[in-house]
Amino acid sequence: MFIEVAEMLRCPEPHEESFCVVAPEEMAGRMILRGVIGCPVCRTEFPIRDGVAEFGSAPQRAPESGGSPDLPEAEAVAALLGLGGPGGYVVLVGAAASLAENLAEWLPGVHFIGINPTAGVSASPILSLLVCDRMVPLRSSMARGVVIGPDLATEFWVGEAARILLRGLRVVVLGRESCQVAGLGELAKGTGMWVGEKTASVASGR
Ligand SMILES: [Zn+2]
Repeated sequence: MFIEVAEMLRCPEPHEESFCVVAPEEMAGRMILRGVIGCPVCRTEFPIRDGVAEFGSAPQRAPESGGSPDLPEAEAVAALLGLGGPGGYVVLVGAAASLAENLAEWLPGVHFIGINPTAGVSASPILSLLVCDRMVPLRSSMARGVVIGPDLATEFWVGEAARILLRGLRVVVLGRESCQVAGLGELAKGTGMWVGEKTASVASGR
């Protein structure tokens, strides 16, 4: 996990959104390979192992999505996100995390945060990895874009995308052609994907 992502984390326990405190134990450049994340509100601690922040176990995936679902070209996904320039964070949920290396070519200067990646995706200087079955363990209104893989393209995870997105920015949902989630307006739908834009702030509901 990239050390600057520490400022974006939130504890997934059922209490108000709060900052987490990160104690690195082993670093490689600005990546934390091993360490502990602590919540000052509920005192829960979560480990960072092999560069992956573990806020719990991985969630159930859509069974029809298989182990390695077909994903569109990174260039198309980057165009749908519609980002104006470098900087900030793009969050990749489920199988979408495997797009990070290719997306980086189209979105230079963006750091990617993979949530519940599929097997074979590793943390890197451009990709931080977080695992949590209960929520996206990131603060509200911090992401410049979200891409959700077909394996986790459920209303729950799209709702989490609505919460973490900055207003006016977009979520690309792969493997779905319609979606109705509070706070998201439909921008586009195409073959096997749906694009929404955050239209209002969304309470976490927790
Ligand atoms: Zn907590």
